[in-house]
Amino acid sequence: MENRIRVAIDGPSGAGKSTIAKAVAKKLGIDYIDTGAMYRAVGYKVLKQGVDPGDAQALKTLLDETEIDFSKGNIILDGNVINDKIRTPEISKKASECSALAQVREKLVQLQRGMGQSKSVIMDGRDIGSNVLTDAEYKFFMTASPEERARRRFDELKEKGQQVTYEQVLEDILQRDHNDMTRELNPLRKAEDARELDTTGMSIEEVTDYILKEIEKNGNC
Ligand code: C5P
Repeated sequence: MENRIRVAIDGPSGAGKSTIAKAVAKKLGIDYIDTGAMYRAVGYKVLKQGVDPGDAQALKTLLDETEIDFSKGNIILDGNVINDKIRTPEISKKASECSALAQVREKLVQLQRGMGQSKSVIMDGRDIGSNVLTDAEYKFFMTASPEERARRRFDELKEKGQQVTYEQVLEDILQRDHNDMTRELNPLRKAEDARELDTTGMSIEEVTDYILKEIEKNGNC
C-alpha cells in the first residue's frame, strides 16, 4: 500500500513511550495503538471476573469472549470505554502476570497485527519491533533510568489522585522490568534494527522531534 508507514516503539515501563507515540501520531495524522493497554484490559477482565489465569480452560473462555478495540483515543473492552479503570498498580501487576501467558499473547498479537495491516499506525509496547510488526518501517527502543521512569510514573499517578509512594512505584517498575525481560515468550528486547534512544533528561518535545525527524529524513511524511 502506498505511503503506509508503521512505527514501532518499544521499551520498559515508564520510558514515556505512550506520551511520545500519542504526540507523533497526532503530528502525522495516523492511528496510535497502545498495546500495553490491551494487556491491561485482559488483566482488568481477569480480575473483575475472578478468573484464575492459571486455569487454561477458564482463561480460554474469557479470551474467546473478549473484544478489544480503539476508538478516538479510547480503549474499548467488550463495548465499554475502560481508559481510567486500567491505570492502577493492581492492574499493572495483573497485566504483567497475564502478559507472560501464551494464550493471552497469541490473542493480543493476532489482534495487533490485524490493526497494523491496512493502515498507517504507531504502536508501542515491549515486542512490537521484535515480534508484532517485524517489518515496521521505523523501529525505536526508548529507555530511561529506572529512577527517572519511576518519578514520571509517580507524578502521573499522583496527578490522578492515587495514593502511592515513590518507593512503591520504583519497586513496581523494577519488578516489571524483571518480569518483562526474563519471561520466555516475546521478552522485552531491542530489535536488531531498532534505533535506541535514552530519554533520561530529555523533554517530551525533544523526543517527539527526534522521532519525527527520523521519519522525515526518509521522506514518508
Ligand atoms: O505499557 P504498559 O505498562 O501499559 O503495559 C502493561 C504490561 O503489559 C507490561 O507490564 C507488560 O508486561 C505487558 N506488555 C507486554 N507486551 C506489550 C505491551 C505490554 O507484555 N507489547
